[in-house]
Amino acid sequence: MTSFDLSRRGLILGAAGGAALLAAGRPHPLQAAAHATAPLPTFYDRMVGNLRVTTLLDGYFKLDQNLVTNLEDEQIAEGMKAAYLDPTDPIPLAISTHVIRQGDEVSLIDSGAGGAFGPTAGRLRTSLELLGVAPEDVTRIVLTHMHPDHIGGLIGDSGPVFPNASLHVSEADHAFWTDETIASGAPESSQGFFALARAVSEAYTQRTEMFGENTDLGGGLTTLAMPGHTPGHSGVRVSDGSDQLIIWGDSTALASLQFSHPDAGIAFDADGVQAAETRRRVLDMVVSDKIAVAGTHLPFPGIGHVEEKDGAYAWVPEEWQHI
Ligand SMILES: [Zn+2]
Repeated sequence: MTSFDLSRRGLILGAAGGAALLAAGRPHPLQAAAHATAPLPTFYDRMVGNLRVTTLLDGYFKLDQNLVTNLEDEQIAEGMKAAYLDPTDPIPLAISTHVIRQGDEVSLIDSGAGGAFGPTAGRLRTSLELLGVAPEDVTRIVLTHMHPDHIGGLIGDSGPVFPNASLHVSEADHAFWTDETIASGAPESSQGFFALARAVSEAYTQRTEMFGENTDLGGGLTTLAMPGHTPGHSGVRVSDGSDQLIIWGDSTALASLQFSHPDAGIAFDADGVQAAETRRRVLDMVVSDKIAVAGTHLPFPGIGHVEEKDGAYAWVPEEWQHI
């Protein structure tokens, strides 16, 4: 299986390809392209009240350690060793998306990477098909933010993938990623991010609905402002009765590092200081209220609880729920 390393070099190469951002990442020199494949479709089903929440593994990527910010090399190595990962390797990160079903309402939270991250991701459509969900069945899509690994699955060669869905996106994120003045002043390495966000925005323009901070979208979904990783980065609270799950997108993304070192960030954070403040606030909230959370990049299926530990936090994965 080909591994895909998300590195600074990969980003720069990919940026030249616009929407094909990151697809030009380095394949492992010893692995033949013929074996390039995404993981098999992988699902995890869980109820939140009467809402059926299915986590789909879109794929994975590997993050170069030099993209971790605000953390010493030794601390990165320590964190990886504590998670029984090879401290000399890039950091493996899942890409998950969530489907929430109740009756005829089919909501999708983020769309995975589509073709933007190379062969190890972009399994959303295959997975939906196996679930018995056709693209036409999806009634709405809610975005945590407009990074390529969250919006790439929304468009294909022939335009929008989901012909009937409304697209709910944070006003602040949409404004940022579609602003041509901001894009023209941004570094070459992030041009592909802007190009893909603009392409998605154009493909869904008639069906886009903006949300502000903490907006009730109906059907048990409420957005929660979690800015920093991107200007309008948002979580989604899924609730029915007294049962709830908070899907926090990339608020905490690196399971082996950011629970024990919540100030550590990722080079893609738009505002690293704000992202860290948000992370601590969200972690404190879910610790004190014992709320189950789901994260896009946490080890699949990426659902669990958070506890306080040694002045920081610890991740407690949920035991598999059989429904
Ligand atoms: Zn992400």
